[in-house]
Amino acid sequence: MAKHRSQKGTLFVISGPSGTGKGTVCKELLKENDLKLSISMTTRQPREGEQNGRDYFFVTREEFEKNIAEGNLLEYADVFGNLYGTPKDAVVRQLERGRNVLLEIDVQGALKVKEAMNEAVLVFLLPPSMKVLQERLSGRGTDSEEVIQRRFREALNEIRLLGEYDYYVVNDDLEEAVADVAAVVRAESRRVPGKVKPIIRDYEEEDN
Ligand code: 5GP
Repeated sequence: MAKHRSQKGTLFVISGPSGTGKGTVCKELLKENDLKLSISMTTRQPREGEQNGRDYFFVTREEFEKNIAEGNLLEYADVFGNLYGTPKDAVVRQLERGRNVLLEIDVQGALKVKEAMNEAVLVFLLPPSMKVLQERLSGRGTDSEEVIQRRFREALNEIRLLGEYDYYVVNDDLEEAVADVAAVVRAESRRVPGKVKPIIRDYEEEDN
């Protein structure tokens, strides 16, 4: 996607309740769009097939707390007992280089990103209904009934925060949901930034 050489990248944040299909939507989105996925840091144990540095940076709680203390995280949150956070430097570096960056994080984290970087674009992924969400959470087969119920109850509290977001996408049909998010990415990448002076200057210099 052509963009002016002086334009910085845009930070996109996809979040929504557990079970709405954030992971799948992001995976599909990354195949065809000019986005760099940020790799989060977490204290949770790796699942089978997950690789350190590719899926997450898996760290101990001590290491995580050290990163908080040193101010290395753009945001972090406790998600159902484990800590998750976004390494700040990598994100800032990519944005400076003009690359669009994608964060796939929970709702608490997304709101903290918006506080820290008001220009971030927040997309809320909604399930088609609470009934479908319950079915999806139960259908995973990886969690206990108690965990499923906890995630389900939390989902409604999270949906109530929708007003803090910039866009919402309903994940009913996967292809359609991915196309909706891609449309947001495309339109937002063309938004005239707050500071347009560097862009105008480039054209003026060429004219001299
Ligand atoms: P999982 O353990 O299933 O990979 O992720 C659990 C939840 O943590 C998901 O909702 C995921 O979006 C969220 N998550 C992953 N990375 C981050 C992060 O860096 N920050 C925050 N706040 N949440 C994250």
